[in-house]
Formats: sequence, structure tokens, C-alpha cells
Amino acid sequence: MKSAYQPIIGLEIHIELKTASKMFCACPADHFGKLPNTQTCPTCLGLPGALPVANKKAVEWTVMAGLALGCEIPLFAKFDRKNYFYPDLPKGYQISQYDLPFCVNGELDIKPQASSLKTIRIRRIHLEEDTGKLQHRANATLIDFNRSGVPLMELVTEPDIRSAEEAKIFLKKLQQIVRYLDISDCDMEKGSMRIEPNVSVLKTSKPQTSNLKPQALPKYKVEVKNINSFRFAEKAINYEIARQIKILEKGDTPVQETRGWDETKNVTFSQRLKEEAMDYRYFPEPDLPPIRWTGGQIDNLRKCLPELPDVKILRWITDFKLLNTQAEQLAATPGSAAYFESTLQLAKAAKIDPSAIAKAVINRPTNQPLPPARLLIEELAARRSRPTVSDADLEKIVSQIIERFPDQVAKYKLGKENLLEFLVGQVMKESRGEANAGKARDLLKHKLT
Ligand code: ZN
Ligand code: MN
Repeated sequence: MKSAYQPIIGLEIHIELKTASKMFCACPADHFGKLPNTQTCPTCLGLPGALPVANKKAVEWTVMAGLALGCEIPLFAKFDRKNYFYPDLPKGYQISQYDLPFCVNGELDIKPQASSLKTIRIRRIHLEEDTGKLQHRANATLIDFNRSGVPLMELVTEPDIRSAEEAKIFLKKLQQIVRYLDISDCDMEKGSMRIEPNVSVLKTSKPQTSNLKPQALPKYKVEVKNINSFRFAEKAINYEIARQIKILEKGDTPVQETRGWDETKNVTFSQRLKEEAMDYRYFPEPDLPPIRWTGGQIDNLRKCLPELPDVKILRWITDFKLLNTQAEQLAATPGSAAYFESTLQLAKAAKIDPSAIAKAVINRPTNQPLPPARLLIEELAARRSRPTVSDADLEKIVSQIIERFPDQVAKYKLGKENLLEFLVGQVMKESRGEANAGKARDLLKHKLT
């Protein structure tokens, strides 16, 4: 029987929360672009005797993220110390969560193809503190502790992802939801969302798209550290899949290790052998009390959730008869969704159909920023009351376009039929979208045969 190679991918994602203050002290959490070491105190510098106090907002936001992703919220949670030495971690340990995180057993549905829905299980979401930042210079390494102690939410998926493409769809959707929750900018370039894919490849006689039992998974996995763009995540995953298949084809097993991503050479490289949890000597953080929730507190946080993109999209499709693609485009960011919704009240008064607004917003040329909602509605109302392009004018525009694009016209006449749509597009553009596209198409056809 011929065997096939099945990629098995899990993701670990770190997201910096945009709380006003840091996770365990009162320093500002907004560290990006600030003068080094200007936002520190004994606590986030790890000085002896300084005591942490947990940031309530960060804890609540993490639970809200869990609720938005269908997680169970255990009523008892605690912080733990994860011990390791690195210069950007002045205490010698990171306050994190080990066996009792805030959120467990969630899921997120992704749509890899237009039709099929796939569920990616989320193992856990926990809260920890970010480290300082190292700056490597020619003959020295400098440390900036402004980022030390910034609240960092870590989400871990089950290894349910089967391709780089699925990983990217998952990441984009996660980013969208977190932005809707308004708890992080998830700005990959500023490092407020960082990705660590875990990749292994299963040699199997029948590849499966469904979730595998733990005992069916490969006996090793390779973690690629700290990737800061969706494109690099995709490339690094594909690189690892190919590298590991080569090893498996020789009959060997890839080494379990942590690798880095070299974005100039487009390769991963070995960094260190992967440590096990026991290497970190986790133990409960003695300086912070455990967290005990009441069911009522969790219910209250659930009530604070905004309407999430999937629900919004479905509602717009049902209520306003938007096309799925239109609704998805308008709901892409909380800003675009809010804009569309801000037009609705005014549209109703002006008797303009929401689907007409959707079209106007989506088809707007990228170099024309959207006006305030009121102006957009006025524009649409004016366009409606204006007479559409007269037949004589349309005739003129069509002739102009035929003159202006002789190459395309010649090719169309030679049989490149899809160029007709290009010409129709030009007529529409010339008429600022006011011509009737069907009439324009007929007229062009007529003139060009
Ligand atoms: Zn501090
Ligand atoms: Mn972490």
C-alpha cells in the first residue's frame, strides 16, 4: 500500500493585551516605541522583595476571550512560576499558568473552502507576563524592560490543523475576534501577536482531515518560535512539512526540537532541543492568591461580549439580504462593521436599501476614503434622484472607450471574449457607475461585431 504524508499542526499564539497598566504592577503597558527603561518599577524589574498584584482587567479580558471562543471557564484558577534563566527575565521565572488556566476546551470554526466548515479545538488560554526585549549591538547586548510584565495571553490549539493554509485562516479569524473584543491590537508588526507553530508529519496509508486521537499522533514535534507575520507562518510551516517529509522518506524520524525562522533565507534552523514541562519546575505562585469565580461573575462577563463577526454576518444576510461575501467584507474589522451599522439608521430614513450601501462601500475605489455616514447616504440619495445615463450619452461613452482601448478591442475581435467585461468595466468607470451595465454590454457587443 502506498503511504502518504499527513501534516499535523498545532498553534501557540501569544497576544499582548492592551490594558492601561502591566500585568502585576502599575507601570504603563503601552511600551511600543517608548524610550528604553522608562516604564519600569521594582516589580517588573524583578527586584528582591517587590510583590505582584494581578491586573483585574487582564484577567477578565482573558476570560472574555475564552467565552468568545467557546471555552469552559473553571471556577478555580491560579498562577504558577515557570522557572528558566534568560537575561530578559530578571526574576529568573515567568509568572504564568500551568495546570489550572483560565480557559479550557474551546473551539473555533474555520472555512478552508467556501463550502466546508472545520472545527479547530482550543486546548487552553492562559495569562502570563511578557519578558523584556534584548537589543543585539555589534559588541554588546542591551536590555529594555519596558515590555517586561506586559499582560500576555497565550492560546494553545489542539493539533487539528492540516495545512499552512488552514493555519493562516485560523490565525486571521482569531485576530478578527480579538479585535472585536477590543482587548488587543493584534498587530503582528509591533509584536503584539506572535505565532509559534508546532509541526509534525504523520506517515499514514489513509490521510484524514478529522481530528486524531493523541496515540495516533507522531512521536515527535517541531516548534518554530516567535513568528511575526501570517506570511512567514505559512512559509515556515510549508518549509517544515517539506523538510520533515524528506527525513521520513529516508526512514528516519525528525528530531524533537525548537527551531527559528530565518526570514531572509526562508528556512528554519535548529535552536535547541525542546524542553519538557518538568524542566521548568513549575510551582504555584506564592505571592498571588488563586482566583475563585462565581457563576454569576462569569455570566456577567459573558453579557459584556460584543456581537461577534460570525453572528453579525449571519444577521446581516438574513435581515438585509446581503450576499455572504458582502457581509464578510463589511464585517472584516470592527471599524468597517461599525461604519456600515452607523449608516443603517440614516439609510432607513432616506429609504435606501442596506444592500445598496453595502455595494457602495465595497466598490468604493481604494483611493477614495469613505465619507462620514451622513454624507455617504446623501451621495446615494442624490445618485438615485439623478436621471441615469441617457441612451445618447451611453452611446457616446461606449464610442470613447472603444477608441481609448484599441488593443483590447482588437483582441476581443480576435476571440478574447472575456475582454468584453473589461470594456464594460471601463464604461462603468467613465460613467461613475451610473450607466446600466447590461445596456453597456449590449451596446459594446453590437458595435464590435
Ligand atoms: Zn512595573
Ligand atoms: Mn508563553
